This record gives sequence, C-alpha cells and structure tokens, in this order.
Amino acid sequence: MSEAVEYDVVVLGGGPAGENIVDRTCAAGLSTALVESELVGGECSYWACVPSKALLRPVLARADARRVPGLAAAAEGPLDTAAVLAHRDYWTGDWKDQGQIDWLDSIGAHVYRGHGRLYGVRKVAVTSPEGEHHVLSARHAVVVATGTRAVVPDLPGIAGARPWTSREATSAQAVPGRLLIVGGSVVAAEMATAWQGLGAQVTMLVRGSGLLPRMEDFAGELVADALREAGAVIRTDVVVEAVVRDGSTGPVRVVLEGGESLEGDELLMATGRAPRTDDIGLETVGLPVGTWIDVDDSCRVPGHDWLYAVGDVNHRALLTHQGKYQARIAGAAIAARAAGAPLDTGPWGAHTATADTRALPQAVFTDPEAAAVGLTLAEAERAGHRARAVDYDLSKVSGAGLYADGYRGRARMVVDLDREVLLGATFVGPGAAELVHAATIAVAGEVPIERLWHAVPAFPTISEIWLRLLETYRG
Ligand SMILES: Cc1cc2nc3c(=O)[nH]c(=O)nc-3n(C[C@H](O)[C@H](O)[C@H](O)COP(=O)(O)OP(=O)(O)OC[C@H]3O[C@@H](n4cnc5c(N)ncnc54)[C@H](O)[C@@H]3O)c2cc1C
Repeated sequence: MSEAVEYDVVVLGGGPAGENIVDRTCAAGLSTALVESELVGGECSYWACVPSKALLRPVLARADARRVPGLAAAAEGPLDTAAVLAHRDYWTGDWKDQGQIDWLDSIGAHVYRGHGRLYGVRKVAVTSPEGEHHVLSARHAVVVATGTRAVVPDLPGIAGARPWTSREATSAQAVPGRLLIVGGSVVAAEMATAWQGLGAQVTMLVRGSGLLPRMEDFAGELVADALREAGAVIRTDVVVEAVVRDGSTGPVRVVLEGGESLEGDELLMATGRAPRTDDIGLETVGLPVGTWIDVDDSCRVPGHDWLYAVGDVNHRALLTHQGKYQARIAGAAIAARAAGAPLDTGPWGAHTATADTRALPQAVFTDPEAAAVGLTLAEAERAGHRARAVDYDLSKVSGAGLYADGYRGRARMVVDLDREVLLGATFVGPGAAELVHAATIAVAGEVPIERLWHAVPAFPTISEIWLRLLETYRG
C-alpha cells in the first residue's frame, strides 16, 4: 500500500450526490478527491432517471398527441423504436463518462477510478481496475455517496432465469415481445409504461392491492386504468414463488402462489433497493456493514465528526434531487466546519436538510403523470395533524380540457386545519409533473392558505387547479 495522499475532502461514489459534494467543496477552496468504481454520474445518469425518462418522453408525447384534435390521427402509428433507443443512448453518453471527467478536471477535483473502502478514521483505500492501491487521507471529511443496488429476492430458479433489474430495463437494446414485471412501485410503473408504449406486451405482477403504494390511492388507480387501456395486464395481490427459464434463449416462466404460471420473454424484478455498504470498510470505523447509514440533518454520521453520508445511501429519500440537495447542505456544512464557522451563517441560512422530512417532491412519469409533495392524508393523520383532504377533478379545469381532449386527472391538497397551511399535495394527469413545484413552494414555505388565494394562476393553464382547490376548501 502506497503512502497516503492527503486531501481536505474524500468522496466515495460519484453519482449525483457525490458529484454535488465535490462541486461544493471545490467551490469552497477545499482540495477534493472523488473515488468512483464504475461511471461518474452514477446510477441516475446511466441506468435510472436519465435513460428511463428518455424512453418515456416519446411514449408520453405520443399519448398526449393522440388526445389533441387534429393531431390524433397523425400520432396513431407505432413509435420509431430504433430512434427512441438511440435517443436514450445519446442521453447516457453511450455509457461513457468523459464529459463528467472533463467537468471534474475543470473544477480542480482529483478522480480515482476504482473500488474505495474506508480504511480507518479519515482514510479511504482505493483499488484500481488494474490492481493498483492508493490510500487517501482526508483532513476534514470523508463523504460516503455509494448509492443503492437493485434487490432481487432469492426465489427458486431466479439466478438461471437471468432477470432484468432496473439496469437492463433502462439499457435494453431491443423491445422484448412479452415483458413480465414483478413489482408495483415507481420503477415498475414507469418501465411498464415505457415498454408497453414501445410495443412490448407487459404483464405486471403486484404483491399489494395497487400501484404506487406510497402515493394517495387515486394515483395508482388512475395509472393502472391507463396502463390497462394501453394493453398491459395488471395482476394485484399475487405472490411469485418461483421462476424458470429453459436454456439460454428460451422464454421465462413465473410460478405464482397457487400454482398458476405465466410466460414472458423477459422478466423485470422491480422489487426494491439495497444500500451499497456491504464492501466499503464501515467495519474499520465501528459501523454496521450492509445497512443504510444514519445521519443527522447536516448529513454527518453521529459519533464520527469527520464522516458524512449523502444520497440514497442514507435512506432519507431515494431520489436524485434530494441527494443533490443533501450534498449542497453537507458540502456547505463541511466548508463551514473546516473554516470554524457556525452552521447557520451561509447565504441559505442553516445547513440542515429539513426538506427531506417536510417537503419532499416526487414526479412519476407514467401516463398519466403522478406527482406529489409532502404528506398524504393518511400520513398526515398518522403524524397527528388535524388534516383535511380537498379533492378536485382535473378534467373540470379549462386549461386541462384545452391541453387534451377527454383529459382525465385528479388533484388533492392536504390542509393542516390548525395552521391553515398545506401539508401535502398530489396531482395526477397528463402534464401534472410540472404542477408539483408550486405545491413544493407552498409546503416548504408554509404559505398560509389565505396568501395562496393571491397567487393567481394564469388562464388557461392546468395550474388553475389551485384556484379550484382553494375555492373547494373555503366552500
Ligand atoms: C429506474 C430508476 C429510475 C429513477 N428515476 C428517478 C427520477 O426520475 N428522478 C429521481 O429523482 N430519482 C430517480 N431514481 C432514483 C435515483 O436514481 C437515485 O436516487 C440516485 O441515483 C441516487 O444518487 P446517489 O448519488 O445517492 O447514488 P448513485 O446514483 O447510485 O451513485 C452511487 C455511485 O457510487 C459508486 N460506488 C458505489 N460503491 C462504490 C465504491 N465502493 N467505490 C467507489 N465507487 C462506488 C457507484 O458506482 C455509483 O456511481 C430512479 C431510480 C431508478 C432505479
């Protein structure tokens, strides 16, 4: 092992969270090393957000076009799948990260390619793909940003069945004839929308009673209705017991509890995520191995004043924008602590990641889109709020009617009756993802309902839903 190379900050994992930490600490004048074992840009850029949305955009645009008089007939045909897959490949940079490396060079960061592990307090050992070893030591902070990997349940026959995870589902180079999807959450619903739209026959096998279980029930119901209309089959309350694939190219068969079996050409297991913390040396600093890493609101690990964890790996919110937000907070906290400054002095106030718990937005790019921020009604009640749900049919908003013929959608705001502020909001409908930021501002800013009345939505936009929700609330 070579002598340690010293930096102010060492970041382990170059996904969106790790990249944003580097951006902040370099901007603060702290020398920073980034260790990445695969591609700088992480899961998000190559096998998650970016390729999935590149696949979904043409599917959603065509669905929208088919609802516009005068355009519907022109949008009747199939998508040009070769062009869609090429567009997806373009957005992943053909799974090359030279652009990210150039950017890191330009801000003065030092990149180590290889697998990194903590190597005791303030140290990280890196093994390069060529087998070289480096030890990096950090004057101020080590930041773990190693993200997650897909969880595939250990079912009989699963290994031989070579199932897809989100990686294959977002990088496949051909449309499967029949795609079986196990799961009903966001990844399952988005990939069902994408591949059904691209010509596959999708069958979803959902253990629970519906799709998108973390959102208000109507979100999953509207998305399931639309998927069924598009030709997908959705089976709920089913348990997959075994998987069989004969030979290397044969079809895959899924055996359900009760003995029924279903056949497909590919099988996507969209069954959750696990932290990539099993081989990063956590044991060398007395932390448990293979679990999510607990952090405080500055994303620092309690009891280790030099160790931070940002992004998926801390399990606060498995979303790119929240990981990047945490990185902005933690980067500022590291810089402040390195300078001996208090944590509440930066241009943005206190360096604490409060939005992770209070105003977390998410957009699901199904057709219809589903977007939500803050608490659902059930969550608000469980948290002890005296809350009221205000619902409105989005199709009754003129902006929505002009957006699409036969527009279908629904919106709900959850009001804290004691303080008359929003605790959460959910919008489901074509184009609804763009509605969520206004709600995020209302929830994060705790804008009183009375003031929201003076935030006048432009006519004729789908945002007029705000006016209708507020009128319904006042009665
Ligand atoms: C199909 C899919 C679609 C998604 N779509 C969206 C979306 O539209 N919007 C959204 O907000 N979120 C989306 N997400 C979630 C999003 O991808 C994650 O929240 C995000 O990637 C987390 O960023 P991260 O930096 O924490 O981790 P990652 O992106 O997982 O990056 C971690 C990096 O660490 C590296 N690494 C791991 N271990 C080591 C090690 N020991 N040494 C060196 N390097 C290491 C990895 O190679 C990787 O590059 C989606 C997820 C999936 C699966």
